Amino acid sequence: MRRRDEIKDLALQRISRLLELASKVYKVEPGLADRYGELALAIARKAQIKYPDFLKARVCRRCGAFLVPGKSVRVRVKNRGKMKYISVTCLKCGYTRRYPLNRRKVPPRPWYVFYRRRIN
Ligand SMILES: [Zn+2]
Repeated sequence: MRRRDEIKDLALQRISRLLELASKVYKVEPGLADRYGELALAIARKAQIKYPDFLKARVCRRCGAFLVPGKSVRVRVKNRGKMKYISVTCLKCGYTRRYPLNRRKVPPRPWYVFYRRRIN
């Protein structure tokens, strides 16, 4: 049991480190940032942990692209009848995810990451 927690811990540390690096290199080398994104996904899979929110918000789960709103990802607030949701489209592979907005207007998971601290 202990061992598994350690692996999980290590994986999370490495994932957040990779995302840090990715946001640093994105401006000069977007291709490298995408590679870091892929690696972060691979680490999560290998350690058999759920993708943490901070990973889901920053990396496309289909192609591993590093997501920067307005650059590599299109973020829109949309209405469908009474339902409001945030639509997030990866501009590299076209994968779209929708995050419903609830009535209390709490930012949906995993997008609250962007409300807590501004990245880019
Ligand atoms: Zn993608």
